[in-house]
Amino acid sequence: MPRHKFLAIDQGTTSSRAIIFSDRGEILATSQKELRLYYPHNGWVEQDAQDIWNDTYVCIQDVLKKHSDITAVGITNQRETTIIWDRETGKPVYNAIVWQDRRTSSICADLKEKGHEPTIREKTGLLLDPYFSALKIAWILDNVSGVRVAAEQGRLAFGTVDSWLVWKLTGGKNHVTDATNASRTLLFNIKTNDWDEDLLRLFDIPRSILPKVLDNVGDFGTTSPALFEKSYPIKGVAGDQQAALIGQACFAKGMVKSTYGTGCFALMNIGTEFKASHNKLLTSIGYRITGQTTYVLEGSIFIAGAAIQFLRDNLGFFSSASESESLAKSVSNTNGVYFIPALTGLGAPYWNPDVRGAIMGLTRDTTRAHITRAALEAQAYQTKDLITAFEADTGVKPEVIRVDGGLVANHFMVQFLSDILETPVDIPVCHETTALGAAYLAAIGSGVFSSLDDISKNWKKEQGFKPMMTQDESNVLYQGWKNHMGSLIKA
Ligand code: ADP
Repeated sequence: MPRHKFLAIDQGTTSSRAIIFSDRGEILATSQKELRLYYPHNGWVEQDAQDIWNDTYVCIQDVLKKHSDITAVGITNQRETTIIWDRETGKPVYNAIVWQDRRTSSICADLKEKGHEPTIREKTGLLLDPYFSALKIAWILDNVSGVRVAAEQGRLAFGTVDSWLVWKLTGGKNHVTDATNASRTLLFNIKTNDWDEDLLRLFDIPRSILPKVLDNVGDFGTTSPALFEKSYPIKGVAGDQQAALIGQACFAKGMVKSTYGTGCFALMNIGTEFKASHNKLLTSIGYRITGQTTYVLEGSIFIAGAAIQFLRDNLGFFSSASESESLAKSVSNTNGVYFIPALTGLGAPYWNPDVRGAIMGLTRDTTRAHITRAALEAQAYQTKDLITAFEADTGVKPEVIRVDGGLVANHFMVQFLSDILETPVDIPVCHETTALGAAYLAAIGSGVFSSLDDISKNWKKEQGFKPMMTQDESNVLYQGWKNHMGSLIKA
């Protein structure tokens, strides 16, 4: 019997989940609800903030029925997604604007034109892109009737999803966020660790709507007695990718985790010194514990597993994603086919919103097996683009990459990744690294774990993959990707 149990709330883009972990990192109970996305206009992506809360609440109630003896709660969430609500009524003034939303791209282009990007990069480690929260906040203030006036009167609160959930869980008592979520807003100076007055002025956002920023481990409040039979302390919060970094125990400088879900997000721990990327990566706060900030370089790719969904749902190549593995293995190579999954433009390290996806190198004998294999191989090439940028920025070649996310169930993909990166790739025993990271933060916050070392001791490898290809083969294949990518970007 575990001595302590922790509740991890994992509020993601496609679903809300609650998972109860033991203090050894085992899953004891889990509950999940799919979350609806709305696309009101081309490039707009929204969710109902009330649904986000209601679904999360239902999932928590569900798992507490099985284990109500929880020591503490940890929260992890889809980052950048923006919610503004009325402090009095608790009602959102507009839908949640999701991280994928592109409605502010012309405002970004305009601000770039005016030369604001270098300063923003120095202060926040980010780029001027609709991806980040500040542009979404400004849009709501400027486009929803009465909102700017209410904000200026101090009646409104802004939060990323963590902040909204803490506010709801504490019965409207606490308006807080954590340093990792704050570091994705484009308003937080990650060197001074404070909201930045210049950026607030630039985006015309009143400081009064912002939450208080806490370390990843801390006192986020206690759940309201009105919600559950008992009250539970909320002791840890981190954005999803940072929580995965923690769940994967990447605490030494140079360690890398790469998550393959809908998109792919690779994070490299770069230690306690801020470093702006010169290779179009982002710098963010990896974690902040007892006031000490550790930074990461991040490469964000918008389409990873979504490419497999595309082949399944749009092209009808197979009926379940897992069939892609046997199909890919039914041929010995792609026969020269490359799949560039730029279905929503290109993220790191290209940052080109206008490029669209392509399948290149088609011949008379190309089959769906070749194209499927090419879509899986593309995951490795995309990752190589990021790892090359990490190396160029830091001079460090990671010794091993720790991977997670739904797509790593596909061992063909993971082996090919190891081949193309020419680096060992490890899959951990616990596949739910994001939720696990949140549970671990709660374990530290409640004093059950004394430090990050306790997390490292708990990390266990399920399976390791080593490069099997010759360096020449690997180089030739990757060069083909670079050539096709180059011609697509120019076209
Ligand atoms: P998210 O958390 O972003 O919703 P998940 O980590 O659950 O994503 O991963 C789901 C993605 O992984 C889907 O896009 C799916 O197509 C892909 N996927 C799942 N299993 C496999 C598999 N065996 N082979 C290839 N892709 C897979």
